[in-house]
Amino acid sequence: MSEEPDGERIETRAIHAGQVPDEATGALMTPIYANSTYEQDAPGEHRGYEYSRTGNPTRSDLEANLASLEGGSYGRAFASGMGSINTVLNLLSAGDHVVASDDVYGGTHRLFTQVYEEYDLSFSFVDTTDSEAVRDAVRPETELLWVETPTNPLLRIVDIAAMAEVADAAEALLAVDNTFATPYLQRPLEHGADVVSHSLTKYLGGHSDVVGGALVTDDEDLDERIGFHQNAVGATPGPFDCFLVLRGTKTLPVRMERHCENARRLAAWLAEQPAVERVYYPGLESHPQHDLAARQMDDFGGMLSVELDATLSEASTVVSETDVFMLAESLGGVESLIEQPAAMTHAAIPPEEREAIGLSDGLVRISVGIEHVADLERDLQSAFAAAGLQ
Ligand code: PLP
Repeated sequence: MSEEPDGERIETRAIHAGQVPDEATGALMTPIYANSTYEQDAPGEHRGYEYSRTGNPTRSDLEANLASLEGGSYGRAFASGMGSINTVLNLLSAGDHVVASDDVYGGTHRLFTQVYEEYDLSFSFVDTTDSEAVRDAVRPETELLWVETPTNPLLRIVDIAAMAEVADAAEALLAVDNTFATPYLQRPLEHGADVVSHSLTKYLGGHSDVVGGALVTDDEDLDERIGFHQNAVGATPGPFDCFLVLRGTKTLPVRMERHCENARRLAAWLAEQPAVERVYYPGLESHPQHDLAARQMDDFGGMLSVELDATLSEASTVVSETDVFMLAESLGGVESLIEQPAAMTHAAIPPEEREAIGLSDGLVRISVGIEHVADLERDLQSAFAAAGLQ
C-alpha cells in the first residue's frame, strides 16, 4: 500500500493512491488475491493478513484508494452499499434516535424502518434542506444524522456544513451518503461530516458490473469501531469485486467530467422541450439550490429528473421507447439509464404520499451516461413522439 505524496490532485490519486507495483513480479495492477487464508511465520505471527474476511490485499488497496479520494485517512469496503449503511447503524444502541432525510434511498428507509425499528432504534424523517426542521427533530437521545445530497429523485441539495453544526451541537455523528455526487464532485469530510458512505455499485465502479459499498472517515476511533463491525458482521466484498472497483476509480475523474457535461447539455435541451414541464438539475440556474450546489460541489453531477406533461401510462411509453437509454434501475454507469420512479424505484410509496413529496406520475429519472449527447437528445425526442407528447 502506498502513501501518496502530499499535494497530488484527485485525478492522479484516482489512478495511483493505495497501489504500488507487486514486489515479486512488478505487475502494475493490484492482483486479485483469491485467498481465504495466509501462511503464518509462527502462531499468531502473520505478515499483515491472516483471514480474508478480516483483511485481503486487494481490498486493502481499494480501501486506501477510496480513503484518499474522499480526503479521509481510513476506508472500509463492504459487499454492497446497504452493507456499509448497515455498519453505521451497527454503531448505535437500543433506545438511540436517528434523524434522516425524508427522501433517502428507498433501501435505506427500509433498513431503518423495517429492520432497525425492531431493534428499538427510532427514526425521524425530515426535510434536511431545512436546517431548522432538522434542529427541531433532534432529541437528547439522537446519536446519528443521516443525509444524502443530491437527493433521489428530485435532486435537492442538503447543506452539509449546516448539518455538521446541528450534529455537533447534538453530539451526534453526521453520516453523508455521497453516492450521487462521488468524491470527484463533493467531499463531505471537508464540510464537517464524520463518515461518508458509498454504494460503489454506482459511479465509483462505473460500469454496471459490480455491487459494493464503502465507508470513509478521518477519525481513528470511529474507523476502529467500523472495522470491528466489518469483521464481526462479515459483509465484506470478494477480491474480484474489489479489483473491479479499483479499475473503475482510475477513470472516475474523466467519466465524471463527461457525465456532468452531458447532463448539463441534456438538462438545458430538455428545459426547451414542449413535453417537459420541469427539469430537476442542480446545474440549472432555475434550481432553487443552485448557489448552494455551486458552493458545495465542484460540478453538478450526471443525474437529472424531468416532470413530463404526461399521464403515468404516457410516461411509461416514453421510458419504454428509448433505444440508447436503457430502461433500468440503478445509476452511475457509463451507459445512460432511464426510469419512472412512480412505477419502479418508488412504486412502494402510496400514490398520495408520492404526490405529497413531489413525486408525480409524470416524473422520469435519468442517469446520464457518457455517450454522445446528440444521440441522447435524438433518442428522447423520438420517445416523446412515440408517446404522442409532441
Ligand atoms: N445509497 C444510494 C444513494 C443508492 O442509490 C443505493 C442504491 O441504489 C444505495 C445506497 C444502496 O447501494 P447498493 O445497491 O450497492 O446496496
